Amino acid sequence: MFPDAGPSKAVAIVIGGTTITIGLVSSVGQLDSRSRLATQPRDGFATAMARIEQSVEALCEADSVDPHAIAGIGIGCTGPVDTSTGVVVTDYTLPTWKGHSVTRYLSEAFQVPSVIANNADTAVLGEAFVRDALDQTVVLLTLGTGVGGGVVINGVNYKGAQGEHPEIGHILVRGDGPKCYCGSVGCLEMVASGSAIGASGRRAGFACAVEVFEQARLGDAHAKRIVDRAVQCTSRGVWTLLHTFLPDILIFGGGVMEAHYDLFAPTILAVLARATMVPLHAVSLAQAQPGNDAGLIGAALLLRRHLRASVM
Ligand SMILES: [Zn+2]
Repeated sequence: MFPDAGPSKAVAIVIGGTTITIGLVSSVGQLDSRSRLATQPRDGFATAMARIEQSVEALCEADSVDPHAIAGIGIGCTGPVDTSTGVVVTDYTLPTWKGHSVTRYLSEAFQVPSVIANNADTAVLGEAFVRDALDQTVVLLTLGTGVGGGVVINGVNYKGAQGEHPEIGHILVRGDGPKCYCGSVGCLEMVASGSAIGASGRRAGFACAVEVFEQARLGDAHAKRIVDRAVQCTSRGVWTLLHTFLPDILIFGGGVMEAHYDLFAPTILAVLARATMVPLHAVSLAQAQPGNDAGLIGAALLLRRHLRASVM
C-alpha cells in the first residue's frame, strides 16, 4: 500500500539519458497522466530544468491541479546521483548536469518537498508495487541508453556500502574488452547498452543502434554479430544476477529490452536452463511495464515514504 500522506497528487519524474517522463500519481499509487520530453542534456542543466518545470505546469493544468499544492516531487534519475543532496555526480550520461542539484532546483521552483533516487531503483520499486510483490525479492535489469538495474527486497531498495546503489551495468561479461569508462574492461554496459551497440554499429557502417537492430532482423551478418554479442553477454549477466539474488521475480526493462526482448529472451532462457544450483522453476521472468510507468509510480512511492518519515 502507498503510505497515507494526504490526498494530494504527487508529481513523479523519471530522467533518463534520452527521455524524461513526468507523471501525476494519486495518493493510492494510480498513475493519472503523463507526458514525455527529450532529455537533450547537452543543452545545459538550466535549460533542461526549465523545460521540466514547464511540462509539470502543463500536466498539472491539464489535470486541474495547482502545481504548488501537490504533495511533492519524486524523481528517478539516471547515473550516479547523491540522494541526500540531489546532485548529479558524473557527467557520463547527463553531460553538463554534473555538480547540479535536481531536487534543490525543483523544490525551489514549486516550493514543495522533493526526493531523488537512481532511476533503476524507482523502476524496480514501482515494478514490485504494481506486481503486488513488495514482500518478495525483485530484481530488474535495464538495457537502455546504458545498462543498470535495481533490487527490491521486502519492499525496500537494496543499498550497499555507504548507501550506494548496486552497479549492475559493470558486471564483467567478457575478459577481452571493450574498455569501460569505469576503468575496467568487458563490463556488460560496454557491450549491451544502446550506446555500445550504436558505437559498434558505427564502426561497421551503421548509423545508430536502431539501424543495427533493424539490419540484424533483416539478416545482415555484421549487424547480427553485434546483436548476438549483446545477447550472449546479457545472458551471462542475467546468470550472475540469478545466482546472486535468486529473486522471486527477474524483470527485463529499458528501451532496448522493450523493443527487442524477443531477440534476447530465447538465449537468456537457454542459458538459465543450465542452472542446477538454484530452483529456477520458482523464479518468474517478466518484461517491465511499458514506458516508464513503473518508474513513475516508484518515484511517487519514495516521495510518500519520505513525507511520512519526515512527519513522524
Ligand atoms: Zn565498467
